[in-house]
Amino acid sequence: MYRLIADYHTHTRYSHGKGTILENVEAARKKGLKKIAIADHGFNHIGFGMAVTDLHAIREKITSLNRRFSDIEVLMGIEANLISMEGDIDIPPEYLDEFDIILMGFHIAVKPATIRDGWSLFAKNGLDKLGLANRDKVRQANTEAMIQAIRRYPIRILSHPGAKIDIDSRKLAREAAINNVVLEINASHGYMTREYVKIALEEGAYFVISSDAHTPGRVGDFNRGIEIAVSAGVPAHRIINTMEAMMLD
Ligand SMILES: [Zn+2]
Ligand SMILES: [Zn+2]
Repeated sequence: MYRLIADYHTHTRYSHGKGTILENVEAARKKGLKKIAIADHGFNHIGFGMAVTDLHAIREKITSLNRRFSDIEVLMGIEANLISMEGDIDIPPEYLDEFDIILMGFHIAVKPATIRDGWSLFAKNGLDKLGLANRDKVRQANTEAMIQAIRRYPIRILSHPGAKIDIDSRKLAREAAINNVVLEINASHGYMTREYVKIALEEGAYFVISSDAHTPGRVGDFNRGIEIAVSAGVPAHRIINTMEAMMLD
């Protein structure tokens, strides 16, 4: 079993979470976590993406909480979106330095970079789900887009790889390992799957287990992710938010 002491993937009202930054931080402290990231959805998320105009307020709150609490470190994060087949993500270059940690994942209901990207990312993947597209081609294009993103941007965590999109697990895991990007085992919806974790483990990838909490009550709830990691046989030092890994850091 692992002792997890950081949760790098939590949402607040700045996207579609229910709680405030303070409530997430208080919940994390109660569970004995030493680090938490506030990682709301990227700017292009339709309906509930973070607003660029909120960045200043979010930073101020996080700075004040870091002054107030000595038992936990609060990071300003974002769960950015893949928005093009060339690996563009929805953080304009001038905002990249605003964040302490960048997560990136594939989501639907996101404004694509171009109409063409919208077709490739969302329509083709939709057809793929229905069995109506050339599966292998779609998978390779998806994988290539994710790989370009991790080469081009300072992404630290790929959130729930394999969820909502078909990817070549082995290729992506290999590239993630080379680029110092960790793969998330998401305790909310169970991606990555055990099968994918095993493949990624063989390719030398590192992992993180996250709650993906959308309410303060779920912050630090790692159970489902732990079950997947245990069943895939992941050693504690390969999971960056275990006490073991963080002490080596
Ligand atoms: Zn997500
Ligand atoms: Zn999320």
